[in-house]
Amino acid sequence: DLVKVRRALLSVSDKNGLKELCVFLNKIGCQLVATSSTYKAIIDFGLPCLTVDSITKFPEILGGRVKTLHPKIFGGILAREYLESDLADMKEHEIEIFDLVVCNLYPFQEVLNKGVESEELVENIDIGGVSLLRAAAKNHASISILTDVKDYKSLVENIVENNGSVSLALRRQLAIKALRETASYDELIAASLESSFKVENCLTHKIGPVRAENVKAIDSLPENICLSLNKIQSLRYGENPHQQAAFYRLSDMQAHDVCSLVNMKCFHGKELSYNNMLDIEHIIRLASDLKDKCAAIILKHNTPCGVGISDISISDAYSLAFESDPVSPFGGIVCLTKKVTVELAKKLYETFLEVVIAPEFDNEALQLLQKKKNLRLATYDSLLPLSNKTIFTHVQGGFLAQSANDIVIDKSKVTYPTLLKPNEEIFAALEFGMTVVKHVRSNAIVLANAKQTLSIAGGFTNRVDAVHNCLNKNRLSLDNAILASDAFFPFADSIDIIHKYGIKHIVQPGGSVQDAEVIKACDKYGISMLFTGSRHFKH
Ligand code: 5GP
Repeated sequence: DLVKVRRALLSVSDKNGLKELCVFLNKIGCQLVATSSTYKAIIDFGLPCLTVDSITKFPEILGGRVKTLHPKIFGGILAREYLESDLADMKEHEIEIFDLVVCNLYPFQEVLNKGVESEELVENIDIGGVSLLRAAAKNHASISILTDVKDYKSLVENIVENNGSVSLALRRQLAIKALRETASYDELIAASLESSFKVENCLTHKIGPVRAENVKAIDSLPENICLSLNKIQSLRYGENPHQQAAFYRLSDMQAHDVCSLVNMKCFHGKELSYNNMLDIEHIIRLASDLKDKCAAIILKHNTPCGVGISDISISDAYSLAFESDPVSPFGGIVCLTKKVTVELAKKLYETFLEVVIAPEFDNEALQLLQKKKNLRLATYDSLLPLSNKTIFTHVQGGFLAQSANDIVIDKSKVTYPTLLKPNEEIFAALEFGMTVVKHVRSNAIVLANAKQTLSIAGGFTNRVDAVHNCLNKNRLSLDNAILASDAFFPFADSIDIIHKYGIKHIVQPGGSVQDAEVIKACDKYGISMLFTGSRHFKH
């Protein structure tokens, strides 16, 4: 399964990392062959190298359009050393084997970003490079293909580990990466030419990689994004049983881009449904904001219905979460930030749940929970940051993109506008309440103390109804209760209701033209209020 690296072909537009790689290849006795400017760079490093022309006995022609497209090159990449007939062909035509291709393509995206005319775009369509990637990927049984500078290190480490050879496992991974590169490269070209030619395309197209184009709203978001999506699994059904559903994953995700859903592994129970996946995505997002705590979250229909945090145990955290709303968890999903103990498993066992997701399950806990054949059990990495720097929402015919909402309270923006100020314990409760309300559909109101939510109300079209519902359905003692609001109070009417229930502490973003009225009402009732300056609408 090991392939020795004796001869390498290098043709790279991005020369970063090239020196270190070539120094290493030279040290292990690997011969280097390169296209024109790559050759010049290698010679400038002071390393021996051959030109492609010296092998093909044919110059680069058509201003670089034909550089490597030659049987002496492609024969050397595609030959199977284990086939007699291939060996005979090689001998007859004096073709030598390549064991490694290092190739990255003309930087089409960069040229596109410059806003050039279509002729210049066309000139920047890489031909031979794509063929090199494709050929070497096809023949991964005999050759390695490097296309991303970020992978040079992995290859070097693998060669060191295997005394000068590359493992089959790595060759396979590199081949898959190269094929994804050519697929997304061509999709990018097709989409840019389509928009550059300004033609209405009436031909039918295979549903291929999806591209979110011209995302211009916020500067830090890219102008053009080429997304390739791969179907990972079919799901039981969509939001309802008469709808079909599947999970698609971004095909070019890097290891550091691993996000909650991709990292999640369901190892027991019924097949995951579309609704399960959405619920898992949302529960993990909330869990991620509580990852430093020992926390339990119960969620139903994309909305948290109970959240508890405990200094004692994960089982205690779950009891606190459950206590705040013992009706909604039926058919819900539970996420823990710590290992599931047998004590907790016994409690989970008592309720009909769809999914339990945790970083780990202890053995005895597993034995008990696995008795429920349908209950889905899943693990996830609770410490992993959520990678989604940009979040996409699908709308008819396109995507909306926004950068991730990765703050709860930005302490530099916090102000204390009322006469009364919260103490430290109350501040902890306010922070916890804000953390939860961030994950509830707007308009959202959360009642909480420092350990548990007391009541959660979301999806209201006005804030007074949200406040009313939240306070009205609360079942627990309101001692030390705080009220968190995802957005500002537009009028003082909500404060009157809050006062009637005896709540003494509020956290909200502030920023309403009526803030002065709201502050006045709080001062009148002896309520302390904190302005965070950060709104948390969730649509
Ligand atoms: P160099 O900078 O070494 O002159 O050329 C490197 C670039 O040429 C790489 O980006 C590679 O993908 C591309 N390339 C290699 N062979 C060919 C070819 O035959 N035709 C075209 N158009 N590009 C090639």
